[in-house]
Amino acid sequence: MGDATNTCDKKVDRSRCKSDEERRERYLAKHRRYGNKSYTCELCVVVIKQAAKAKHVKSVKHLKLLSETE
Ligand SMILES: [Zn+2]
Repeated sequence: MGDATNTCDKKVDRSRCKSDEERRERYLAKHRRYGNKSYTCELCVVVIKQAAKAKHVKSVKHLKLLSETE
């Protein structure tokens, strides 16, 4: 029971520690890394997120088109 109270306290503390500015900066940094960048696969004619690129180029659909093109 004591653990549950501890977790709750930590949660409150953590959000109180972050200033709005710090939170905003983190949000923007995260967005810069994942949100804004997009990758266009000209082979599949599809726009995906940069973060999903690695997964996409290994996908069956992409590899099939790749083998058909070559
Ligand atoms: Zn593709």
